[in-house]
Amino acid sequence: MNTFDFTTIRRDFPALQQQVYGRPLIYLDSAATAQKPQCVTDTVNDMHRRLNANIHRAVHYLATQCTERYEQARETVRRFIHARATQEVVFTSGTTAAINLLAFSFGERWVGVDDEIIVTEAEHHSNIVPWQLLCERKGARLKVVPVDDAGRLQTNVLATLISEKTRLLCITHISNVLGVVNPVREIVRLAHTHGVPTLVDGAQGVVHQPVDVQEMDCDFYVFSGHKLYAPTGIGVLYGKEKQLEQLPPWQGGGDMIASVSFDKTTFAELPLKFEAGTANYIGACGLASAIDYLASIPLAAAHRYEQELAAYAMRQLSTIEGLQIYGEAAPKTGVVSFTIAGVHPLDAAAILDKSGIAVRTGHLCAEPLMRRFGVQGMLRVSPAFYNTPVEIDTLVVALKTAKKMLKA
Ligand code: PLP
Repeated sequence: MNTFDFTTIRRDFPALQQQVYGRPLIYLDSAATAQKPQCVTDTVNDMHRRLNANIHRAVHYLATQCTERYEQARETVRRFIHARATQEVVFTSGTTAAINLLAFSFGERWVGVDDEIIVTEAEHHSNIVPWQLLCERKGARLKVVPVDDAGRLQTNVLATLISEKTRLLCITHISNVLGVVNPVREIVRLAHTHGVPTLVDGAQGVVHQPVDVQEMDCDFYVFSGHKLYAPTGIGVLYGKEKQLEQLPPWQGGGDMIASVSFDKTTFAELPLKFEAGTANYIGACGLASAIDYLASIPLAAAHRYEQELAAYAMRQLSTIEGLQIYGEAAPKTGVVSFTIAGVHPLDAAAILDKSGIAVRTGHLCAEPLMRRFGVQGMLRVSPAFYNTPVEIDTLVVALKTAKKMLKA
C-alpha cells in the first residue's frame, strides 16, 4: 500500500476519535455520508455564531460578508471541478435535488410524448425515479443500459439503445453499490456523436477521482457536499452554460428573479435563475472549506490509497467462505458490497455494530441492481482515506465471528 499518512489525517476528524459501545468507532459507511474535518465544522460554527445574514439582499456588513463568501464558495467549486465559469455552478441541497431540478427543467424544455431518456441499471434511485416521474408526466419512455456480471456497463448495448428520440443519457460516475468507475469520457463521447446530452451523477465519483467537467465534456454533473466531507443540505448542479441558458427555472421565489409584476416576471441571470429562496449559504461555505481541506492534503495519494484499501478489503473479505462480492471489474474504488451465503445482511450488520463497526445494509437505494444480481440486499463497506488496513482486518474478524454466531 502506498505511504499515505492516514494517522495524521485521522486527527483532523473529531468523529473518528470516539468510542461506541465501549469500542473504538470503525466508520466504514462513508459512501452514505462522510465524516467532517474540524475545519469544516469550525467554518459552519463560526458563520452561525458570528457571520450570519441573508445573502444577495441587504447592504449591511454581515450581509455583504456572507454574500461574498457564498460567491467565493461558488468559485472554489468551479475550480475544483474545472468548470469554465461560475455561471455554470448552481448550488442545490444535494444530488437528489439537482437531478430533480433537471428532470423538471430539462424535461419541461426538451421532453415530449414518445421521447426517451436512457439510464443505467447501476443507478441510485435518485437517478431513476425523477426520470420515471418525468416520463409519466410527459408520456416519454425510460430505457436501461444493463451491467454485466462484473459490474461493467454494457456500452455495446448502449449504442443500440440510442435513437433519434433519445433526449438525455443519465449515468453514474461511480456506482454506490459496485464501486466500478464508469468510462464516462467515452460514454459521453458516444452520446454526443448521436447528439444526445449527458448527465453524470457524481455523488460517489467526485469523492474518489479528480473531476474535470470540461475534459469529461458532460453536459451536466451533480454531487452532494455531505459525501465530500462537507455539511449536509448542500450540493451542486454543474451545467454547461449553453445548456442551462436554454432551460426554464424550476422553482420560483426570491433571488431567482430580475423583476416581478403581476403581468410579467423576468428571471435572474445564471446561476441565480435556479436558486430560488434563501440559499444554504453556510452550507456552501462549509463545502468550500471541505474543498480547501482536500487541497491541503496529498489528494492524488489519498485517491490511490482509497483504491488500494478497497482492493485490500476485497482480498481480505474473500477469505470468508460463502462471501460474494458484487462489482469486481477494475477500476474500482470507494465501496465493496457483498453477501454471505446463509447470513442475512441486517443480522450481520447488527452484530458488527455492537463491535463499533458501522457498515451499510439493505438495497442500498439501488433496488434494480439488487434484482439484477438476484439478491434482496447486501452489506456494504465504504472506506475513505481516513480508514486503515487494521480496521479492515478487524471488520473481517468480526464478520467471521458474526457468521459463526448466525449459523450456530
Ligand atoms: N447518487 C449516488 C451514486 C449516491 O451514492 C447517492 C447517495 O448515496 C445519491 C445519488 C443521492 O445523494 P443525496 O442523498 O445526497 O442526494
